[in-house]
Amino acid sequence: MSTTIFESLESNVRSYCRSWPAVFETARGSRLHAEDGQGYLDFFSGAGALNYGHNEPDLKRALIEYLAADGVVHSLDTYTTAKRRFLSAFEEHVLRPRGLDHKVQFTGPTGTNSVEAALKLARLNTGRTGVVAFTNAFHGMTLGSLSVTGNAMKRNGAGVPLPFVTTAPYDGYLEDPSWGFSWLARTWADSSSGMERPAAVIVETVQGEGGLNAARAEWLRELETLCRGHGVLLIVDDVQAGCGRTGTFFSFEEAGITPDIVCLSKSISGYGLPMALVLLRPELDVWQPGQHNGTFRGNNAAFVTGTAALEKYWADGGTFERSVVERGRLLSEGLARVAALVEGATCRGRGLLAGVHFPDPDLAKRIAGAAYERNLLVETSGPQSEVLKAMPALNIPPEELHEGLEILLDATRAVLAGRCSHASARVESRERMSSASGY
Ligand code: PMP
Repeated sequence: MSTTIFESLESNVRSYCRSWPAVFETARGSRLHAEDGQGYLDFFSGAGALNYGHNEPDLKRALIEYLAADGVVHSLDTYTTAKRRFLSAFEEHVLRPRGLDHKVQFTGPTGTNSVEAALKLARLNTGRTGVVAFTNAFHGMTLGSLSVTGNAMKRNGAGVPLPFVTTAPYDGYLEDPSWGFSWLARTWADSSSGMERPAAVIVETVQGEGGLNAARAEWLRELETLCRGHGVLLIVDDVQAGCGRTGTFFSFEEAGITPDIVCLSKSISGYGLPMALVLLRPELDVWQPGQHNGTFRGNNAAFVTGTAALEKYWADGGTFERSVVERGRLLSEGLARVAALVEGATCRGRGLLAGVHFPDPDLAKRIAGAAYERNLLVETSGPQSEVLKAMPALNIPPEELHEGLEILLDATRAVLAGRCSHASARVESRERMSSASGY
């Protein structure tokens, strides 16, 4: 089947299709089907935008009913019944049970737009310009988000300086963990340090693109205490790790911290429909009306599926959360078996955002290529794409989780035995040319 139109007309910027050149047509749950009849098991989940799988039937029904009744689809930020239902469900099933009194701001419908809004809001509130971000962070591709992103190739795409950001070591970046936040604490407290107090610190609790580094709960608590002590706002970017990925709705719940600002996107609509929001402490809501606006803040189709997802999965007294934790346990057991095949390989991540770090940076890419040959979609992560990253749907049936893990084991054994065929070598060399893994 031809891929000519993509290759001749679509920009060179395309990336995932270089590793997975199938032309996908239909999808349901954790299975996708290509136009040539091949079926694929999905351990990728739209980079975290499909936490409940493809075309989840109850979400689809709600969407079809809404469309069939001529429900308003586009509404900027005017009031709609769909938005009212979403906000009510979000308050009832997410905010209130967690004791959060944050307000909700709908931004443009991408993760990077919610990060831009969060950075602006922190600067508006504090009157300060600086922001502290962490090594290997990924926050998006627009200029503000790129300024707090680590990866040099992505930063170089900006074409302009990316100022006003200081990078600090993420948990585990330095070999000596006792280093902690002592440098930030000293410099913020010392008016002669040359480092001004920033407006905010922005952090991912698990670095989804940066190599599945998972911060320890103590580290996050220490960061919160440090920020509070110096009047610095704490932004948690939960675009990828949120919406249940790590086993709780927000990834920071395990640490027991309360960020001032939270960024959510990807799976908040539950259906892969674009939507993003920022949660902000009420006293931070200093926006002038329209000061951060955008045409697509009222994606009612996404409100409808998002409401259905909250009502189905997050109103059940914790049953779903426990099932995610259990699947996370099964995933980490399977990944440990993969890691055991390679000396020096280690498991990374948390919940259903987990993977294997290999000492040979090429191995993860080759295993992902061999998995694709075996009809499993799995991506890589990390500065050199050295981490095999498994991100199945949160509701994947255990037998499909098992099936995917067996494919990963088989793919790893095949690569180690040098049985990597021509096709995966081709995929690999295309990836190298683009030097773009994942995001
Ligand atoms: N923040 C994090 C933590 C992400 O993982 C991503 C996307 N991978 C983004 C922000 C940007 O989201 P988007 O691609 O929707 O702009």
